[in-house]
Amino acid sequence: EVRVRFAPSPTGHLHIGGARSALFNYLMAKHTNGTFVLRIEDTDQARNVETATEKLMDSLKWLGIQWDESVDTEHGEYGPYRSMERVHLYKDYIQQLVDEGKAYYCYMTEDELEAEREAQKARGEMPKYSGRDRDLTAEQRQAYEAKGIKPVVRFKVPQGQMITFHDSVREEVSFDSNGIGDFVIARKDGVPMYNFAVVVDDHLMKISHVIRGEEHLSNTPRQILLFEAFGWEVPTFAHASLILNPNRQKMSKRDESIIQFVEQYKELGYMPEAIVNFLALLGWSPVGEEEIFTLKQLEEQFTLDRVSKAPAVFDTDKLAWMNNQYIKEADLDEVIDLALPHLISSGRVSENMGEERLEWAKRLIGLYQEQMQYGAEIVTLTEQFFKKDVDYTEDAKAVLAEEQVPEVLEQFAKELDQLEEFTVPEIKKAIKATQKATGQKGKKLFMPIRAAVSGQTHGPELGDTIELLGKAVVTSRLQEAVQ
Ligand code: GLU
Repeated sequence: EVRVRFAPSPTGHLHIGGARSALFNYLMAKHTNGTFVLRIEDTDQARNVETATEKLMDSLKWLGIQWDESVDTEHGEYGPYRSMERVHLYKDYIQQLVDEGKAYYCYMTEDELEAEREAQKARGEMPKYSGRDRDLTAEQRQAYEAKGIKPVVRFKVPQGQMITFHDSVREEVSFDSNGIGDFVIARKDGVPMYNFAVVVDDHLMKISHVIRGEEHLSNTPRQILLFEAFGWEVPTFAHASLILNPNRQKMSKRDESIIQFVEQYKELGYMPEAIVNFLALLGWSPVGEEEIFTLKQLEEQFTLDRVSKAPAVFDTDKLAWMNNQYIKEADLDEVIDLALPHLISSGRVSENMGEERLEWAKRLIGLYQEQMQYGAEIVTLTEQFFKKDVDYTEDAKAVLAEEQVPEVLEQFAKELDQLEEFTVPEIKKAIKATQKATGQKGKKLFMPIRAAVSGQTHGPELGDTIELLGKAVVTSRLQEAVQ
């Protein structure tokens, strides 16, 4: 039976890398009728952030990544699902390793460790714990205890051993155990380190596949050594490739060239379906050319053997493109929900706008549904609707320099002036009448009008644009353009 887990540490918002790991685990569970566990790994207490668990869960839910077992689910056969509630369990297993001589107490102080590392570096060696306290006698231990030094527990890494495993993504991976120093498994207060807790939890929770990012690859040999020390079955590992930023550099959480947290995308008016679709393609590839997939389709198609070890580039333009694909297909109401808050927060329309203004704002959003890449973009897309004057693009200037332009625009202004109502059908009649009167048609007719009223040479439906701009603005812009 497939049991997989996403095991975030509650240190902040859901990162896109974490979201991808969560998604791959979720898809693996769905595809195999397995179970998806959400485990909160909070043993590094200094890094815990109070509201992080809730935020992580909110973001996962928003994406539609629903777990079967976690801190909030009823059936807790393998719970608790928060590491700090499992400390009593870990303590027994730590004791077991100590009793079996596979782990030992280490009394080295931070200063001593630091001095050791410096000396190793000075000799040109890779810093690694020397093993000083590996074989302390009972007397030596007592002497340290008498001085009031609290020990950590270190795992005795077997030397001269190749640790080899088959990774579902990377195939055969080997590490030389001589490169790994005896690592700490429990802190001075008895709380275990990540590498230890994760092994106990994955074992007790019967995790069959560990799917996570490549940044954890170097933890894997340590974890395998622990599985083996306990005589436990080692799960299947699958390390998805690194995610590179759009400049093809390794991403760091401080990298400002890219928006990194799921919640930020939500705030910007991205659609969860688009994010999920995009994240799935960050390292996984479907059979065939199709790129647009619903979560259901991904659940049907996802397999680990199509996860690639080549680094995946987080192409923000592609994400925007994909989001636009979803916005185009969405119901207008949904698009309004994505965009309207941004018109309000930018001060373009007021929160308490009247019914009429609200209708206008909704139509405006509808006008840009085809073009909009994400909700917040509505603010820049519709800039020209919120000011009297217009800034012409270079193309618009070129169009307005054509010789037929003054005649067309003056005629059109006259026709508009005679309209009884300023509505799309009437505006269209005015355009037709302008065509008749001037003999200009097609591009020679439409482009100058568009350039004059919007400052641009392309954009949404001209009739709607003109109606939503309103008669006063349009008239003044037509005058402005012929001056
Ligand atoms: N708590 C670890 C992290 O947040 C989980 C790593 C794992 O999946 O084993 O990075």
